[in-house]
Amino acid sequence: MADSLGGLSGVMHLVHTPDDAEKKANTSKCHICLRSTGLSREHVPPKSAYNNYNGLWEHLATQGNKLSSRSMRIRGGFHVKTLCADCNNRVCAPYASEYVEFVRHLVETPLLLDQSGEARVVSVRQNTLFIAKEIMTMILAIEDLPFVELHDELRHFVLHPDAVLTMPFDILAFLVPKSPETGTIAPFHGRVDSFASGFGFTGGEISWYPFGFVYAAAIGPRYRPEKMTNVNAWFSQRPSRTPGSVRLFCRVTGVESMSCALGAKRKRPQIDRLL
Ligand SMILES: [Zn+2]
Repeated sequence: MADSLGGLSGVMHLVHTPDDAEKKANTSKCHICLRSTGLSREHVPPKSAYNNYNGLWEHLATQGNKLSSRSMRIRGGFHVKTLCADCNNRVCAPYASEYVEFVRHLVETPLLLDQSGEARVVSVRQNTLFIAKEIMTMILAIEDLPFVELHDELRHFVLHPDAVLTMPFDILAFLVPKSPETGTIAPFHGRVDSFASGFGFTGGEISWYPFGFVYAAAIGPRYRPEKMTNVNAWFSQRPSRTPGSVRLFCRVTGVESMSCALGAKRKRPQIDRLL
């Protein structure tokens, strides 16, 4: 079940660590509508999607030029303060409730094994376009402001309930087991595989029991992307009137956090950058 990505320690990471001024800038405007207004607390994933309890997380910290991994306590579930109250409570609320229904369905319904015995076949009765919009809301919430400002089309997709989107990167989904070490928040970054062939990567990951996804512009074969499911069609197509199904593999993580790649053994949820 758990996919080991042990070869990752040889990967060079291209990571920009925001200084205090950049951190402040990141939380100066809403990441959806870009208005400079009071920002409210946004849980990623939504609080009712099993993200509502206290926990110890491992996060990537900087000391001078050195990167290291440190433990930190997060109370009441992982959250950021990057969305305005209007986007949070009005625009994105229907997406969040659709997403919550979807992940609760994953937990409460017995999932059938597919013919290979490795993947589960999951029925999807919810509005897949709204699930996609919640996925995009979560991505924009954890990304920094330059990323958000660069991608007008992603914000437009969230701001307009009927809008569809041809994705500029792949959304690769999987099931996440309920286990103390699962949970990965890794914003967009690059990895060079000069020393660890097949581990090149450009993208990010948000995974939390029971569902996770990687958003990837490029992903090396050593991450075994064939054991993740491309759900880009949820973004580009109007939702089907008849319930569909999706085949999902179960994995602890899609691409691992940078904290783990620095040599920290995974014992708890991981976060790579705090806004
Ligand atoms: Zn807003």
